[in-house]
Formats: sequence, structure tokens, C-alpha cells
Amino acid sequence: MADPLTDGSALARVRSSLLSWFATDHRDFPWRRTTDPYAVLVSEVMLQQTQASRIAERFPIFMSRFPTAAALAAAGEAEVLVAWSGLGYNRRALALRRAAREVARHGWPQGVAALERLPGIGPYTARAIASLAFGEPVGVVDTNVRRWLVRRFGLRADRPPRDLQVLADGLAEAGHRADVAPWTHATMEFGASICTARNPRCNICPISDECPSRGAATVIPVPRQAAFAGSDRAHRGAILRALTRAPDQRMTMRVARGLVPPDAVGRLVAGLERDGLVHRSGARLVLGGAPEPAATIGS
Ligand code: SF4
Repeated sequence: MADPLTDGSALARVRSSLLSWFATDHRDFPWRRTTDPYAVLVSEVMLQQTQASRIAERFPIFMSRFPTAAALAAAGEAEVLVAWSGLGYNRRALALRRAAREVARHGWPQGVAALERLPGIGPYTARAIASLAFGEPVGVVDTNVRRWLVRRFGLRADRPPRDLQVLADGLAEAGHRADVAPWTHATMEFGASICTARNPRCNICPISDECPSRGAATVIPVPRQAAFAGSDRAHRGAILRALTRAPDQRMTMRVARGLVPPDAVGRLVAGLERDGLVHRSGARLVLGGAPEPAATIGS
């Protein structure tokens, strides 16, 4: 078998078959109908670790509240955290706001490397924005894409991430420039809905012909997350959730102590303060980081 990393005609065949499949059969999500880089950024940050069906409800609400990078940049931290409530990983919301502020001030950076320098944006998100919003033919490798690449091209599951990125980039470059965004959507959707983790649908798979895993696909291991229930993350979430619902997004430390194990509250609040998610005001805990000191005249 030719090396899939370099066999251009095999890549072009796979790409063409998946694009034809995607054109007729895919789930319709609001973020699939836009090339606005800000909307792509918001959806990609929301989709990290959270199910697409859940984001389908929350994305339009967030976008109607903060329709542009400038609108998000102008919002206060507490306002953004309230709008983000229930999506988890609240630091992502603050990083998203900081990225929006950068974009509002300086415009969109061009190219993957420059996008990666925005707060909270890693290689995957930078590539998603570059391909979906700016039409750059670069491959994205999330958990779903990794799974189907490994199976379809008969790779070892422990193949270095760099090799999978080379393969994904080869696929992204193996067709017309006009298909860049549909291809990125197709590659992610295929892994999420056909070549799934536990029950791959090989019987209706559009690229099953040359697949060495057809009918015998194994589970591709993914890094396990620590249990959520009873974890610091769950307790931090309980404090933040209560703050988003409290009048003026503030509450006493006594109330916070009632939400989590009392002996952990000091440590948890200190961590939330360090992450800029809460600050103290007298005896109260307030959502969002401490206000920036007002600029002094002449400074
Ligand atoms: S034939 Fe099965 S294992 Fe192979 S790519 Fe298709 S769904 Fe995945």
C-alpha cells in the first residue's frame, strides 16, 4: 500500500467522496452557514469539550447578545460569564473576550501562526478559523478527524500527531480552493456521524471501498478526563453558577461556603481569583476579575 501521507491520488479520491457525501447528508448547525471569522471563533471555542447539539441552542443566543468582536470586546467580564453560564470551562469565555478585544483593536491576524497568538487559541482553533473563514487549505485534526484518519488509512493509533497533521493538510490541499470550508466541515462531520467512536456505520460509509478497518474498526483511545463529580472543577462551577444567578452577580463568602466543602472554599476562591473569574469586594465575592484601576490624569 502506498504511503497515505504522500499518495496524492488516494487523498483526492477520499476528499472527493466525502465532499459528495457531505453535500447531501449532514447535520445542519448555525455555524455551518457562516464564514464570519468571529462566529467561527465563538462556535469553535464553545464546541471544545461540549456537545454540538447543546451548542446549537446556545450559539445563537450568545451571538445575538454579542454579534461582533467589537460587541464582545466592549462587554464586561461578568456580563460575558453570565452569558457563558452552563457551558463550562469559564476561563475560555474570558480568553474569548480577550481575543475579541485584540481583534477589535488590531483586526484579524492573517495565517495560522498569527491566529495562534490570539488569547486562548491553539493550533486546532487557528486552523479551523483559517480554513472556514479565510479559505486557507489547512487541515484540522480534532478527536473525530483523528479517529477516521487512523481507521481509513490503516495507521497505528499511536502514530505521532505530526503525521496525522501532515495527512490532514494533504487532504485539505488535494482539491479546489472553493471547497476549503465545505471540506473542513465534511471531515469533522464524517468522524462525528459516520466513523463514530463505538459504532462506525461502515454499511453506509462513502469511503469504505479501500478501508482496511471496514467492519472491524477498533475503538481509538482518547486521553481520559478526570471524573467531574466531586472535583475542584465541579465545585468551581457551582460557585460561578451561583454568582451568575445572584443579584448584581455578588454573594457573601458565607453563601459560597454552603455550596462546596467548607474546608476547600478558601483554596477554590483563591484559584478563581487567580484565573480572573471572581474578585472580592469587602466581605463579598463578585463575578469577574478585579476592575482595572482608573487611568490617572496625565498617565
Ligand atoms: S468503512 Fe467504517 S471504519 Fe472505514 S472509514 Fe468508513 S466508517 Fe470508518
